[in-house]
This record gives sequence, C-alpha cells and structure tokens, in this order.
Amino acid sequence: MEVGNIFRHLLVHNEAFVKNTEETKFLAYATHQNPYITLLTCADSRVQGEILGRDIFNKVFIIRNAGNQFAVNRGSIEYSLFVLNTPVMLVLGHTDCGAVKFATHACITQSKEIMNLAKSFDKLMKTDYSLLTHEIKSEMLPLTIPIERGISDLRKIQNEMKELAYLSQINVDYQIEKTLKYYGDRVKENKLTIIGGVYDFVGAYSKQLGRVLITNINGIINPIDLQNNARNIIKRMPNYDEKSEGYKVVSGLIDEKVTRITV
Ligand SMILES: [Zn+2]
Repeated sequence: MEVGNIFRHLLVHNEAFVKNTEETKFLAYATHQNPYITLLTCADSRVQGEILGRDIFNKVFIIRNAGNQFAVNRGSIEYSLFVLNTPVMLVLGHTDCGAVKFATHACITQSKEIMNLAKSFDKLMKTDYSLLTHEIKSEMLPLTIPIERGISDLRKIQNEMKELAYLSQINVDYQIEKTLKYYGDRVKENKLTIIGGVYDFVGAYSKQLGRVLITNINGIINPIDLQNNARNIIKRMPNYDEKSEGYKVVSGLIDEKVTRITV
C-alpha cells in the first residue's frame, strides 16, 4: 500500500469509527480503565487482540514485543498486574513466529551438528538475517534460551508446521516460568492466573485455523493436569452447573483447545 493510501485510510477509517461508536462508551471510561486481562503477545501483525472478543475496549491490557517476551516490557506488565489488578495474564505465542525463527536460526548457526535435525531447518537456513540491525537482533536473541531447550525434541516431530509451533509453545512455557519467578506468590494466593497459549493460524494443532490453544496454566504443562486445571478454573464460575448445556459446550472446548504438541 502506498503512503498516500495508508494516510487516507487512517483518516477515513477513524472518522467511520467515530461515527459508528456511541459516545457513552468513551465517557464511561474517560478517566480510568478497568481491564480484566493482561495480554503479553508478539507484535506480529497477524496476531490481533480481537481473538479475545469483537470489542476489547477497556477489557484487554495489551503488551506486545517480538516473541512475547516477559523481560522486554516488565514495567508495563507490572502496571497491568499490580496497579490495574487484572486477575488473568495470557502469554500468547503464535505459529510461524519470526522471532522464534530468528532465534532458531541463531541456534543452528552456533551449533552446526543440529543442522539436519528438523524438517523446518532447510527453509530457515535459507533466510538471510544479515541486514537486521543490532537492535533488532539483540531484542530477539534472548529467545535462543527457550529454543535451545526445545530444539532436540524436534527430531521426534518431523513436520515443518508442528516443529515451529512446538518452539513457540516452548517459548511460552519459558516466558511463564520467568513470570512465575517474580509473581508466583500471587498465583499461589489465587490472585493471579497465568495462562499460556499458542495462536495457530497455519493448522499446526488442528484443521481449525485461527484457534488459540491453551498450552500452559500456571506453569502446568502435563496434558492431563492441564485439562484438569482448566476444568477447575471453569468451576470458579459463579453459576457453574455441570449439567447445563453451557457447561457441556465449555467442556467440549476444553477437550479440543486445552492441548499441547507433545514429544
Ligand atoms: Zn511472533
């Protein structure tokens, strides 16, 4: 898109937004915000907050950086958790993550013996990262820590899409591990629930494109414990009723969406 079109779009789109939005929506929250979830996700343009609902105004406090890293924006995270008191933090990675791919490339370059380990490496090694600035690289390089943890498991996957999704999943686990290191007490006191997920728009987990898979809850990653944990969280709904239609739907969704790529 040309800059003229982009600028026009900015003006026109915002005007349409103003016309189509009730003023009361803004007036009610002119001096304060009251979000219920802290979302730490990747800056990737394919990942948008709308996956949490059509209208997330005043509901989702969004923190984004390359590779959904905890350490990059810790101040913003603490503002959302401690000042705004959001009871849930969602750490959301995604499939085909450029930051994860960069860090994987860096790991392979450093240790040539892992070069033939996974199917996804061929394509990855053809990517030229030499033009990236020092700043870009140094923001993404910490991701080599989780990637190194997951890389040897890739030989058991041998599916390009799944391999990269698996590395995103391992990265989410790592970011949650870091979060728990600092805010684990709040989790123990039931003041905070940390949920990890992977937004799958390539079909690495299922044929359903656009699904958010829940891959970690408060650091729990064992698939059975993960599902049990999800069910326990649902029980905290004030009108919880196992016999209701609503519960059956949620239960089915837990079966489908609370899952991990295991090796
Ligand atoms: Zn990404």
